[in-house]
Amino acid sequence: MTRRIILAGGGHAHLAVLADWAQRPFPETERWLVTSTRQTAYSGMLPGWLAGIYPAGELLIDLEPLARQAGARLILSDVTGLDAAARQLTLASGETLAFDLLSLATGGEIDTATFAALGDRLLPVRPVGAFMARWTHFLTAIAGSDAPRVVVVGGGAAGVELALAVATALARQFRQPQVALVTVERGFLAGHASAVRQRALAELAGRGVALHYGEAVGTRHGVLLTNGTGLAADCVIAATGSRAPRWLAASGLACNDQGFVAVGADLRSISHDAIFAAGDIINRADRPLERSGVHAVKAGPVLAANLRAAARAAPLKAYQPRGRTLYLLATGDRRAIGSWGGLMAAGRWVWWIKDWIDRHFVGRYTRPGEGGR
Ligand SMILES: Cc1cc2nc3c(=O)[nH]c(=O)nc-3n(C[C@H](O)[C@H](O)[C@H](O)COP(=O)(O)OP(=O)(O)OC[C@H]3O[C@@H](n4cnc5c(N)ncnc54)[C@H](O)[C@@H]3O)c2cc1C
Repeated sequence: MTRRIILAGGGHAHLAVLADWAQRPFPETERWLVTSTRQTAYSGMLPGWLAGIYPAGELLIDLEPLARQAGARLILSDVTGLDAAARQLTLASGETLAFDLLSLATGGEIDTATFAALGDRLLPVRPVGAFMARWTHFLTAIAGSDAPRVVVVGGGAAGVELALAVATALARQFRQPQVALVTVERGFLAGHASAVRQRALAELAGRGVALHYGEAVGTRHGVLLTNGTGLAADCVIAATGSRAPRWLAASGLACNDQGFVAVGADLRSISHDAIFAAGDIINRADRPLERSGVHAVKAGPVLAANLRAAARAAPLKAYQPRGRTLYLLATGDRRAIGSWGGLMAAGRWVWWIKDWIDRHFVGRYTRPGEGGR
């Protein structure tokens, strides 16, 4: 009996699943990929793109050839609903799709509710493709300006990298750009060693990025912080971390209290055997696991193996992350800060490693012959 397997979202983990399907036959299955856009962006290279180091083509992965090689039917649409018990997905078009097995890797969303007053001045960093288009438009719109003002909200690795990249990019083009980073103090590179935070503070200061501690809300002219400070801005980049997609709430899937899909170490929903998930959309029920591209990528091969195993009711594997994860933060000037447990390293050689890892990863899916896929 042919079983229908649907991958929802072109997220990092699904790249490995598509590669697995392309490599080995998967008999008695009908395979689908449903995702919002044909190209998926590799966010690790986004700061490098902003800083002018990479052209857009270097970080965009075209899902069409990957789906074709995997024998998967590609549907370009947003998933807007899921009925886990009835095994049915709803798409933005209103169409419904039945499945025997489903895997979710649609990532997280940026919560923009507190920034609504900004209107067009708000640039959420996700979806990354839309962010890239709007940033390009913003640069054109401010071309005649002397002193454009950009505020980045979010003190995680992404916010810090984006602030440094924006400062680098604007300094090249404008006389007196003003770049600020706003974060709650405890959220500034939380989970990283003090040496990493100190190094990042020095980089921000060296690049003229003003750091403000506090919670920000959007106003018509910029942001207002909890301490009363107002920051005028031509553009506010929201890099405030992932929120669970809203459509999950009515799905019937077991989720944690923030709405992320609860999965076990085998990446299977703890409530519905036919549903798997990986990347930023999950919450591991068996252990804490931070949301990062590293884990989304590394979970991919396990997810691929488990979808095959589930199709024939065989035992599943576990995704067990290593104790420490290496994070490489780009500083916008072909240098990077490396963070591994309590250790910190920084400099050009750290950037070379990051650049090699990132290009190699994207190359596996854009130039399969060269990347060893
Ligand atoms: C600027 C920046 C830099 C970062 N740098 C790093 C880094 O250096 N290292 C690191 O480990 N992490 C990094 N991260 C975090 C990392 O990007 C995420 O953890 C990772 O992208 C999560 O992958 P994912 O597969 O869950 O989702 P995503 O990469 O967000 O992919 C989601 C996919 O699903 C599609 N999709 C979304 N919604 C729907 C829908 N409703 N229906 C259908 N399809 C949908 C999207 O089009 C996309 O193809 C960074 C994040 C940012 C913003």
